[in-house]
Amino acid sequence: MSGDGVFPEAPGAAGCNELPVQRERGQRHVFCGLAGIVWLHRKIQDAFFLVIGSRTCAHLLQSAAGVMIFAEPRFATAVLQDRDLAGMADCNEELDRVVAELLARRPDIGTLFLVGSCPSEVIKLDLETAAERLSEAQQGRVRILAYTGSGIETTFTQGEDTCLTALAEQMPDLPAGERSLLVVGSLADIVEDQFNRLFEELGIGPVHYLPPRSAAELPPVGSGTLLLAAQPFVGETAAALIKRGATLIKAPYPFGIEGTRAWLGAAADAWGIDPARVDAVTAAPIARAERGLARYREQLEGKRIAFLPDSQLEIPLGRFLHRECGMQLVEIGVPYLDRRMMASELGLLPRDARLTEGQDLERQLDRIREERPDLTVCGLGLANPLEAEDLTTKWSIELIFTPVHGFDQAADLAELFARPLNRRRRLAI
Ligand code: SF4
Repeated sequence: MSGDGVFPEAPGAAGCNELPVQRERGQRHVFCGLAGIVWLHRKIQDAFFLVIGSRTCAHLLQSAAGVMIFAEPRFATAVLQDRDLAGMADCNEELDRVVAELLARRPDIGTLFLVGSCPSEVIKLDLETAAERLSEAQQGRVRILAYTGSGIETTFTQGEDTCLTALAEQMPDLPAGERSLLVVGSLADIVEDQFNRLFEELGIGPVHYLPPRSAAELPPVGSGTLLLAAQPFVGETAAALIKRGATLIKAPYPFGIEGTRAWLGAAADAWGIDPARVDAVTAAPIARAERGLARYREQLEGKRIAFLPDSQLEIPLGRFLHRECGMQLVEIGVPYLDRRMMASELGLLPRDARLTEGQDLERQLDRIREERPDLTVCGLGLANPLEAEDLTTKWSIELIFTPVHGFDQAADLAELFARPLNRRRRLAI
């Protein structure tokens, strides 16, 4: 199955896997996987997320998501007390009581996720066994699953990957002889609707999404499933689905015009659709996206950008900003390099791109201070100190919360990077 070759290789682009990778180990500065609850609870509308954690975890969730709650929230934290942490109380009994109370009070909950944290991992609370025990007690009325959002050695988007891996194990079997396309990684509903229209025009279907809008309607998976990753951080989920017989389509990610065209082209190729049909279906949205992108390309062209390792979106976004917006890549830092998930992206980066994996925060900040890129993409906690040093920043988490995939969002995506540069210019006048 191929699909990588839809776009001609750019002059100076690296061949796949040729790019040297600089590995860094040291102090890291990223959000933990609990942050994923902020977008997952909005996407999966019948699910509830119960974090088993500390007051710090509760505070993180409240400050990240609480301000956006208008209805009764679909997440909470069961706070482990000192007695629990000291091993003086039976956490399982307490957990059973909290879950029973929650489910009695909220009969609308169809799927309950028990979300592990650093404290629950440190005291080795076995949430998977607890989920099985509680599911049995519910006799099928509520599905109870466990996953970890702990910040120990993970980055914030991995919370979605561990959540989807838990769901992957629950998905029904795709009947033998049937085939379907499964898009993996959360997308805004509006983007899903746009892609659905394009897949329909291409003649690809049925198309399912993971995560689905309702956890009660999990998509099927089996040997006839073709996987198309929409987010680069779903490597564990892809592995779990491959184990169930699915085949991963190699493709770049649908960021920008080029990425979206290649992503759709790879799906069409895997489905056996004539490339001429892909050209015909995508011509109008590409023309529209090119018109929208032109003004931002003018603003971004020649500007220098650095990514600190944070979201796992750094490589595909760097590719988009370099190839479609003319930006120069000073450094692309990734929390970890998943070569299988990045196979079609690495070859699209320029040969001289500096790619770093992992983090040694002080060294990385020293490089930023020395090289002074026009724009640095980083986590919330680093943005203010860098701005105080007269460096312009972009919060990486905004790229997860905003609809940025697909042709119709290509200009919006570029605008997210042009905005802080324009703000800085206005302040300087
Ligand atoms: S899971 Fe760990 S890193 Fe995340 S808020 Fe809780 S204690 Fe902090």
